[in-house]
Amino acid sequence: MTGSEAIAVQEVAQGGGLERAPKQRFHRLEVAAVIEETHDSKSVVFSIPEETRDQFDYLPGQFLTLKVPYGDKQLTRCYSLASSPHVDPEHKVTVKRVDGGRISNWINDVVKAGDEIEVMAPAGLFHLTDNTPAGDIVLFGGGSGITPVFSILKSALKTTDRKVKLIYANRNDQSVIFRDEIKAIAAEYIDRLEVVHILDSVHGFLTQPMVRQLVQGHEHGEYFICGPGPFMDTIESALVALGEPGARIHTERFVSPPDPDESEAAAEEARAAAQGSTATQFVVELDGEVHEVAYEKGDTLLQSMQKADLDAPASCEEGMCGACMCRVASGETQLGLNEVLSAAELAEGWTLACQSRPLTNDVKVKFPD
Ligand SMILES: Cc1cc2nc3c(=O)[nH]c(=O)nc-3n(C[C@H](O)[C@H](O)[C@H](O)COP(=O)(O)OP(=O)(O)OC[C@H]3O[C@@H](n4cnc5c(N)ncnc54)[C@H](O)[C@@H]3O)c2cc1C
Repeated sequence: MTGSEAIAVQEVAQGGGLERAPKQRFHRLEVAAVIEETHDSKSVVFSIPEETRDQFDYLPGQFLTLKVPYGDKQLTRCYSLASSPHVDPEHKVTVKRVDGGRISNWINDVVKAGDEIEVMAPAGLFHLTDNTPAGDIVLFGGGSGITPVFSILKSALKTTDRKVKLIYANRNDQSVIFRDEIKAIAAEYIDRLEVVHILDSVHGFLTQPMVRQLVQGHEHGEYFICGPGPFMDTIESALVALGEPGARIHTERFVSPPDPDESEAAAEEARAAAQGSTATQFVVELDGEVHEVAYEKGDTLLQSMQKADLDAPASCEEGMCGACMCRVASGETQLGLNEVLSAAELAEGWTLACQSRPLTNDVKVKFPD
């Protein structure tokens, strides 16, 4: 990513007129504290300067993107906020070591209070919203996948009167992140929160019959799932087989983006694949407004929107975080890298603005409200 690409443009009201002001994508934040959570995970608490506080407002379940110099590369990694905007004063992410992983081990071994890290404002669609449908909330967290669901759990208990069930899977007793906090919250919300711990060492991996049993009595609830791929697939399949609608099943997949050199090669391939495009414009519905956006061959939907000064939601811009998910209402598009969207979501017309190119001149996309 070049310096100029790292700057988006925002309209600001000034003296009655609208002027362009640079909107920084990454902010240098000081690490206020590093907390040892388990033998293989640490939390990092960030200090947010007063002047950028509103940019770091977030919804429970959203994540931060960190940019870290690593050798001769700049690697970006997303980390979900484990803190809740409704309960916790701080912005806290929790990072579990990945075997052979570069940034997770760097965070666990090297980062200390007082360090500065480049961090992008919160993003992501895996979150609780005010207009989320009623019904019980069933949260599935596997290992480090507890982070966004823990944020959702705390906010849901604080801001709604919905019942919450947490099913939390871990390798063994020593790997349970936030064990004491969860215990304390369960004692405080004894009538509304149920917690079930599943330990691989005791119960084995979660199976579909186990999922069916665990969600009994919470039918037509809302499900949030985050954890290792096979764990998530088992739960999703079980819920779909039970007839739970896709709109009530929310998933967040923890993956790393490709390294910058690999993603550039993949982007080149995707550009070449979209060479036959006949599009010169497309229509986008964003925040309830409809815009006609000029299209230059080779650009992605997101790049075209940025050129048109539209403030489209985006974060990693590598096809792996899902912040720029939007739905293709008409026309044909071609999607490059995709680490987030499931086959079902693709079939429903979802795409990623950062990786998608219009192929025909009648493309219309809509961002979620
Ligand atoms: C929205 C989102 C939220 C997330 N939230 C969290 C969270 O709250 N907590 C958390 O712990 N994680 C979270 N993650 C995952 C996190 O972003 C990283 O993917 C994770 O920390 C591993 O990064 P890493 O740099 O340590 O591993 P990487 O260096 O990316 O390595 C990943 C794997 O690839 C292998 N590998 C290493 N180097 C190479 C190479 N050069 N080429 C090929 N393979 C290689 C490693 O052995 C390892 O198995 C989240 C991810 C997403 C998308």
